[in-house]
Amino acid sequence: MRFAVISDIHSNFEALNAVLGYIHQEKIDKVICLGDVVGYGPHPNQCVDLVKERCERCLMGNHDYAALGPGDLYYFNDYARESILWTRRRLTKYNLAYLENLPFTIIDDLYLFVHSSPLLPEEWHYIFDEVEAKENFDAVEQPLIFVGHSHMPVIFSEQNGAFFEPQTTLDLNHDRYIVNVGSVGQPRDGDPRASFVIFDTDLQQLQYVRIQYDVEKTFQEILQKELPAFLAMRLLVGQ
Ligand code: ZN
Repeated sequence: MRFAVISDIHSNFEALNAVLGYIHQEKIDKVICLGDVVGYGPHPNQCVDLVKERCERCLMGNHDYAALGPGDLYYFNDYARESILWTRRRLTKYNLAYLENLPFTIIDDLYLFVHSSPLLPEEWHYIFDEVEAKENFDAVEQPLIFVGHSHMPVIFSEQNGAFFEPQTTLDLNHDRYIVNVGSVGQPRDGDPRASFVIFDTDLQQLQYVRIQYDVEKTFQEILQKELPAFLAMRLLVGQ
């Protein structure tokens, strides 16, 4: 069986559509979304609709949670806060209801899926280094943990620390892994192409996929909808 894990779509319909097109073409068995479906980008409702239709499960992200309001927005920067308020005004009641019911963690057999970190997922901590990875390995039992949130593709092995390989075979019998799948709709690793992973459960093979999409179109729509220009600009350079 092969499943895809996508994350951090951030209302970028062009990127999501391109990624799901590839997943369909490759006949991947199912898609799990790690959340942050909305925030930053110009198409919150279209993205929620498509996730609802095409993803088997979806997790709660911090931007999804913030868009539900009336929670505190103090830890968001100005651009994020502005886009969250913009998004909140536009989400349909059906899509708000969908986001409201998203879980913070999903455990399925050997796999744990969460937006930010398995330890205290509702506090939205990042896993940036091996110390933070260890705290999270210690908090759960599953050998393979999928996260998003930082928009930076990276793999933490419990035995061998942090590394990145576009394609790698994992050893779930002898090691454990935290896999950050990167971001579909707002990559920040210097590569503007959408990022996600495909995992083959029989071969235990993990593959990062990068998909080119119409960045210019999303760029123009962010400006047209009067969202902060910075949010359009960063898409061009993947930062
Ligand atoms: Zn995000």
